[in-house]
Amino acid sequence: MSIKSPSGRLARWALQIQSFNPKIEYTPGKANVLADMLSRHTNLNEDVPCDIFAVSSDFPVRKSKDIRQEQLKDEELKKIIDCFENSSKDENFANWTSRGYLMNQGILYRYSPEVETEEAQLVVPFQEREIVLQQYHDVPTAGHYGAEGTYNKVASRYYFPGMRKYIAEYVKNCPDCNRYKPSNQKPTGLLRTPVYAQRFETLAIDLFGPLPETSSGKKWIFLVEDTSTKYVELFALKEATSVNCAKTFVEEVFLRYGLPRRLISDNGLKFISAVMQQTCNFLGIKQDLILVYHPQANPSERKNRDLKPQLAILVRDEHDTWEEKLPMIRFALNTAKCETTNNTAAFLQFGRELRTTDDVTLKSTDRQR
Ligand SMILES: [Zn+2]
Repeated sequence: MSIKSPSGRLARWALQIQSFNPKIEYTPGKANVLADMLSRHTNLNEDVPCDIFAVSSDFPVRKSKDIRQEQLKDEELKKIIDCFENSSKDENFANWTSRGYLMNQGILYRYSPEVETEEAQLVVPFQEREIVLQQYHDVPTAGHYGAEGTYNKVASRYYFPGMRKYIAEYVKNCPDCNRYKPSNQKPTGLLRTPVYAQRFETLAIDLFGPLPETSSGKKWIFLVEDTSTKYVELFALKEATSVNCAKTFVEEVFLRYGLPRRLISDNGLKFISAVMQQTCNFLGIKQDLILVYHPQANPSERKNRDLKPQLAILVRDEHDTWEEKLPMIRFALNTAKCETTNNTAAFLQFGRELRTTDDVTLKSTDRQR
């Protein structure tokens, strides 16, 4: 994998393996019991006296035969493939190779001079471009990035001629982007701002402090609450800066629960935009992802649960050891019945109540009787 420009069979292997982004670890033969298991023939009709006898793999599998077939349906790509497979390689062949095209196991790839990767990109036939864009722009994990962001994502895996322009058009005409992005938001549309009801779609963020400094120098609590379930995350911060908030937000919230659609805060618009700005910086996305804050659009949503009085009570007696108690405080908040939802946040989040030490102790007492 580390060979700069592998060729022949090595290149094919590298290409195949790279599409899975694997981590290779050396396991000494003695310790390599898994390989032994994998090589054993398993008859599913037989009762196997072993707990683990099946190994499943979730790698996305698309047969190279199918990919080739789709590529051949595209007239332009067929021309290139034919040229590569024609035994009398004419000047066109030199032309295509100089543009970075290559064939691997009957499939057309292209090495892009613009993308900083040693992998070749799969050349997407005309009829599959929209599917790729849906995958890289529309689906929730893609997050409706702007033209540049979407292009960069697609370009890391795929190539097709005129890709940049095609993507710019696609993003420009995306109905969701047109509806939610600030540049397109019409003032008259405010009242029709959709109410997001999905978990972790609208998050309330706030700061609580400064508190007595803990031994690790923490003075602030950064609160993140999902407005639909009221599920709370609490983080101890040294300084109440937007950078710290955004870093925590990205690492502990976004990468765990996914990208929310909007942030709200009692701390005001300035705080939100600063955190949003930093978050976008960290994620390497253009600022036009910032979603608009409309306090007048949805009064019920704006009225967050005010956690600060509760936090004040919970932290009060802990002086400078409050940081250690923070996970327990969070647990208490998430397992307490919430007035507005008439449920615990944990129940709305996981569909069940969290088991507590009460459950454990009560059960063990039962058993003793
Ligand atoms: Zn979009």
